[in-house]
Amino acid sequence: MKFENSKKLYKKGLVNLVGAVNSPVRAFASVGGTPLFIKKAKGSKIIDVDGNEYIDFVLSYGPMILGHRNKIVENEVKNALKKGTTFGATTKGEIKMAQAVCEAFPGMDKVRFVNSGTEAILSAIRLARAFTGHDKIIKFAGCYHGHTDALLVAAGSGLATLSIPGSKGVPDDAVKNTLIAEYNNIESVKAHIEKHSDIAAVFIEPIAGNMGVVLPSPEFIKELRAITKEKGILLVIDEVMTGFRSKFGGAQELLAIKADITCLGKVIGGGFPVGAYGARNEIMEMVSPLGDMYQAGTLSGNPIAMACGLATLKELEFQNPYKKFEKIAKQLENALLDAAKKNGIDLQVNRFGSMINPFFTKEKVVDFKTAQSSNTELFKTFFWTMIENGVFLPPSQFEAWFLCSELSKKDLQKTEKAIYTAMEAVAKK
Ligand SMILES: *Cc1c(COP(=O)(O)O)cnc(C)c1O
Repeated sequence: MKFENSKKLYKKGLVNLVGAVNSPVRAFASVGGTPLFIKKAKGSKIIDVDGNEYIDFVLSYGPMILGHRNKIVENEVKNALKKGTTFGATTKGEIKMAQAVCEAFPGMDKVRFVNSGTEAILSAIRLARAFTGHDKIIKFAGCYHGHTDALLVAAGSGLATLSIPGSKGVPDDAVKNTLIAEYNNIESVKAHIEKHSDIAAVFIEPIAGNMGVVLPSPEFIKELRAITKEKGILLVIDEVMTGFRSKFGGAQELLAIKADITCLGKVIGGGFPVGAYGARNEIMEMVSPLGDMYQAGTLSGNPIAMACGLATLKELEFQNPYKKFEKIAKQLENALLDAAKKNGIDLQVNRFGSMINPFFTKEKVVDFKTAQSSNTELFKTFFWTMIENGVFLPPSQFEAWFLCSELSKKDLQKTEKAIYTAMEAVAKK
């Protein structure tokens, strides 16, 4: 497989782009080599600038759940384009989109659209503080909630239990109100709640997807809901990744809990920049212009993005691919475990709906610490062998693979074959 054109573009890109990318994971830092530059994509396939074709399990990190260039979605976007791209006034599409989202999430009476998951989260922090009058927030080590200052601690860095910024440029003051708890460890939450009477909210990924896929135990999530409710602390469920991925609606419904505030992104834009936060009326009425919590956006609810998002949601509801996802994920899990076993490799596979990923470790992965026990060197070999065999995976041990509804039997056969070849390569390491 040749990557000459990618290599050339990478060199060119380095001049005026930072690291030749606009988001760091695209730089392939944790797997080495030159990042792939993409020319186009269609359905379940993505094609790089050297003409190599891959089955796409990155799917832009989630949004492309219908695969690339779904005809119906593409037509809706084209129609919307003919009317103009942005107006600075509300359009009918925003109302329809709000209706669709509120119907899919029982805990949401009202929603505000923004332009990214990060923006949804930073708005939710402000809203939780406005509503409760408290400043402190709890987050879990290994959960990622976008790059807003207050939550850029223990967001995949090694600083799991201290409120030390995970990035330069984040002042200690910006994270002094952030408390870190451990995923699947309710005692770590209780300890904070006992010590602090001024906690506004707990932020959680209902299924963690940014340390690899990590599922909450049913007791943990139930107790988390119960204790936050009892103490008047808002539970903010970050469904930016999980929203519409494992059912039409949220993971919180499958987990039988209801958020006070829900954050969305990724799938709801269908490939355009859309984020959202929503809650019951009592909370959302705090938001400007109904209330005194200010939050605004020049391009928020952009008509093209709304048309794309709404068409994606409608098509998703129509296709209802969730049983198919379950079946495919199970099939991939079996192949991964079998291929690992045949080659004497320690492997865990975690999955939920259309999110799945293997961890190269013998420890069961239930939190950030156990995820960190993975052998990232082995993942590198696995990743590049998969690429060589026509399968595009997220270039990190700690990213979920995503499934799209366009995956065919043939795609899966090819993927399974690649998995066996890649595990053999790993075993030789
Ligand atoms: C991707 C992600 C975000 C951030 O969304 P952006 O659109 O990248 O800003 C926040 N939370 C979770 C759980 C995510 O997966």
